[in-house]
Amino acid sequence: MESKKRDIRALTREQLRDFFVSQGDKAFRGNQVYEWLWQKSAYSFDVMTNLSKATRDMLEENFVINHIQVDQMQRSADGTIKNAVRLHDDLVVESVLIPTKTRTTACVSSQVGCSLDCKFCATARLKRMRNLNPDEIYDQVVAIDNESRLYFDRPLSNIVFMGMGEPLMNYNNVLKAIEKITSPEGLGMSPKRITVSTSGVPKLIKKMADDAVKFKLAVSLHSAIDETRTSIMPFNATFTLADLREALVYWYQKTKSRITYEYVVWEGINDQRKDVDALVEFCRFAPSKVNLIEYNPIDDGDFQQASNIAIEMYVETLEKNGITVTVRRSRGKDIDAACGQLANKSES
Ligand code: SF4
Repeated sequence: MESKKRDIRALTREQLRDFFVSQGDKAFRGNQVYEWLWQKSAYSFDVMTNLSKATRDMLEENFVINHIQVDQMQRSADGTIKNAVRLHDDLVVESVLIPTKTRTTACVSSQVGCSLDCKFCATARLKRMRNLNPDEIYDQVVAIDNESRLYFDRPLSNIVFMGMGEPLMNYNNVLKAIEKITSPEGLGMSPKRITVSTSGVPKLIKKMADDAVKFKLAVSLHSAIDETRTSIMPFNATFTLADLREALVYWYQKTKSRITYEYVVWEGINDQRKDVDALVEFCRFAPSKVNLIEYNPIDDGDFQQASNIAIEMYVETLEKNGITVTVRRSRGKDIDAACGQLANKSES
């Protein structure tokens, strides 16, 4: 029966080796299959040509490969690519390739929908349906790496966990996926080229520090004033800025890795002098830099990008206080691939 079959990519190399031994075969067959699954991203057992037909049939009887399918690929006028990715249970997530002159960055999803409810975010409206498995995260990266080689003639250079979902709410699977992405048995990428972007779950930021992760940390801050932050990111009522600050200081003490604050300035929400002053204050607690991100309105128009004057006030004030700040232009707006816009619209 189809439902009895196990997902072969949930098995470690050792478990695969043991499986072959239990079938009266050699343990090294497990290594061969493992390579097909991870280094060569095999979609089916049929392509495993160094295995006999009988072995491939036996695998087919016992296992499935729950590989993702890129259902639809959209290309923006600025070169950005958005993939609608269908999972084995027919749910869909999105991932994005963002090319610049020197880099190709993959923005990947970690959950179907999201557990949190940021008011400015299109994904929040989908509600969380489930966490992605490590292999489903890994497959998104492989798909974008292939597209990068095909369309830009170079491999993927960076990964950000900034797609659909809150990566720290799927902590174990995200870490397992990163382990595979950075392993020589997977893609062999440097962890320094990977950024996990969180809305700020203090307990799990501390856990990452304790786990001595080597990737970078970004926090979607958007306001350093509790009242304002809670109004746009309601979970801030539980995970307050004081808790977040304490966790970030802990992170820096343990990892010595500078934190990036992602920050959008919205008209009438956080575009006043008191907002930038609070941000400056917040930046003093641990070495950090600020990315001011251009906002991409979603349908209802409750949030509008602040004026250039307000952005200038932020840039000038931060720089005057010795804080590195970059203003990031939005990419892929015409295909709803920009930050906060991912909402499976490509399905319709
Ligand atoms: S901004 Fe991130 S954490 Fe907040 S609802 Fe959207 S996907 Fe979730």
